[in-house]
Amino acid sequence: MLQTRVIPPAEGAYQYPLLIKRLLMSGARYEKTREIVYRDQLRYSYPTLIERVARLANVLTAAGVKAGDTVAVMDWDSHRYLECMFAIPMIGAVIHTINVRLSPEQILYTMNHAEDRFVLVNSEFVGLYNAIAGHLTTVDKTLLLTDLPDKTADLPNLVGEYEQLLAAASSQYDFQDFDENSVATTFYTTGTTGNPKGVYFTHRQLVLHTMGVSTIMGSVDSVRLLGTNDVYMPITPMFHVHAWGLPYVATMLGLKQVYPGRYDPEYLVELWRKEKVTFSHCVPTILQMVLNAKAAQSADFGGWKIVIGGSALNRALYDAAKAKGIQLTAAYGMSETGPLVSCAHLNDELMAGTEDERTTYRIKAGVPGPLVEAAIVDANGNFLPADGETQGELVLRAPWLTEGYFNEPKKGAELWAGGWLHTGDVATLDTMGVIDIRDRIKDVIKTGGEWISSLDLEDLISRHPAVREVAVVGIADPQWGERPFALLVIREGHEVGAKELKEHLKPFVELGHLSKWAIPSQIALVTEIPKTSVGKLDKKRIRIDITEWQANNSTFLSTL
Ligand code: AMP
Repeated sequence: MLQTRVIPPAEGAYQYPLLIKRLLMSGARYEKTREIVYRDQLRYSYPTLIERVARLANVLTAAGVKAGDTVAVMDWDSHRYLECMFAIPMIGAVIHTINVRLSPEQILYTMNHAEDRFVLVNSEFVGLYNAIAGHLTTVDKTLLLTDLPDKTADLPNLVGEYEQLLAAASSQYDFQDFDENSVATTFYTTGTTGNPKGVYFTHRQLVLHTMGVSTIMGSVDSVRLLGTNDVYMPITPMFHVHAWGLPYVATMLGLKQVYPGRYDPEYLVELWRKEKVTFSHCVPTILQMVLNAKAAQSADFGGWKIVIGGSALNRALYDAAKAKGIQLTAAYGMSETGPLVSCAHLNDELMAGTEDERTTYRIKAGVPGPLVEAAIVDANGNFLPADGETQGELVLRAPWLTEGYFNEPKKGAELWAGGWLHTGDVATLDTMGVIDIRDRIKDVIKTGGEWISSLDLEDLISRHPAVREVAVVGIADPQWGERPFALLVIREGHEVGAKELKEHLKPFVELGHLSKWAIPSQIALVTEIPKTSVGKLDKKRIRIDITEWQANNSTFLSTL
C-alpha cells in the first residue's frame, strides 16, 4: 500500500454520503414549474414531487417498513414508480422492481429470493399476485396502485390504496443520513439457463451512475443528447435496470418527465405529440413498434432524440428512424452494469469523415464513459490487443457495476473472475477506444471452423428492402457443427425465399464483409419473432421453435 497523505477531517466537518436523496432536491432548484406527467391522469410540479416522496416515506414507515427491508413494486411506468424509486431507498429500504413480464413462476421465485416484505401492486396485477400469494414466503403487507375509480382490491394484508394513503399522510419527513454503500435497488436478470439472478446497486453507485449518464449524454458534443430543456419519456420499462437510470438523471436536472403507463405504440406517439417529448431511450424492437404505429405514419418526429441500447442498432433501423426525423444514438450496457457503460461518440477524426463513416460509428456501442474501464480478454483471462480486429470477451470496471448476484456467491465470483466484470459479450476495441459488440458469446455461430456474428448477419439481412424484422441463430448441423438460420418477417406485398436472400448476401461475401459460410441455407418466414420480457429477440425460444419446425418439415421453411 502506498503511504499517501490522508488528513483526518476537522472536528465537525460534515462527512457527505452519496445518497439518492441528494438527487431529488436539485431538480426543483432548477425548475420549480416543470411537470411530472402521468398519461392523461395526473400532472404536478417538482415541489409536489418532493412533497409526495415525503408522504410516501411516511406511508411506508407507518406500514412498518424499516431500513434494510425490501419493498417490491409491480407497476407500469408511472409517477408512482418514480416516487418509489426515491422514497423507498431514501428511508434505507431496498426497492425491488419486479419484471411483470416474467412468468408467474419466475416472479414468485424472484420475490422469495429477494425476500420482499412489502409489495405495491397495480390493480392490473391483482389476479397475478393472488395466484402466487399462497407461495410467497416473506411478504407481510400489500399496497394497491390503481388508476380506476374503485380504490379497493382483494389483496391479502392490504394497507390501502396509494393515492388515498398519500393524501392522508404528512408532507414532511426527516430523511436520515446513512452509509452510502447501503443497497438501494435490486432486480432480476434472466439468462439462457437456470433461475433469474438478482443484481443490486447501492446509493453511492446510483449517484455516480446518475452523474456519469448526465455527463455522457449532456456534455459530449458529437451526440449532445440531453439538456435541461428536454422533455423526457422512457420507453424502456422502469422495472428493467431503473429505466436505464434516466429517471434519476431527469429528476436531478429538473426536466419535464412523461410517464406513459403500459406501452401502447399508438398512445406513445400521441403522448410524444401532446407533451412535446424530445428525449427517450429504448431497445430496437420497441422503436420498430413505434415506427410501425398507425399514428406514426403521418408524424414528423423531428427533434426527438432516442438512445438505443439493449441490442445492436442496425443500419436499416437507423435509416428508417432518420427518415422520420429521429436522431438515434447507440449505447451499451447490461442489467449487471447499472446499466450505462458506453455511448456512441464521434471524435474529431470521425467528424471530419464522410456521413457514411459517421453513421457507422453512431450505431456502434461507442466509447466507454468517464470512470469506465473496458478491455477484451481471451478464454483464459489474458488481455487482447485493442486493434479493432481481435475479438475477445468484453470485461469492465466502473464504480457502478453490481458487486455480485444476491445470495449467489459462486455466480458472483464467476461474474468477477480476475477482478473484472465479465459481460458474456464478444467485442473488439479499436484504437479510438470504440467498443464494437460482435455478439453474445453464446450466440456466435460456429460453422465449419469459422465464427460468424449473428448480429452482423442480422444487420446485412435487414438491409433487404422486403425485410421488416430478422433474427439469426446457429442451429446444430451434423456436418458443420452449426449452420446459421434466419427468421424473417416480410413487409406486406413482398416475397423472399432462401435463394433471394443468398443473392442479397452474395455481394457482401464478394466484398469480404461476410464469410460464405454465413449464408443461411434455411430460413423461416414468420409473422412475428419471439421477444423476451424486455422486448429483445428471444433466441432461446427461437432455437426451440426451429428444432420443432424442422422435425415437422413445416411449410413456411424455405431451403436453398
Ligand atoms: P440485459 O442485461 O438484458 O440488459 O442485456 C444486456 C445485453 O444486451 C448485453 O450483454 C449485450 O449482449 C446486449 N446489448 C446491450 N447494448 C447493446 C448494444 N449497443 N449493441 C449490441 N448489444 C447490446
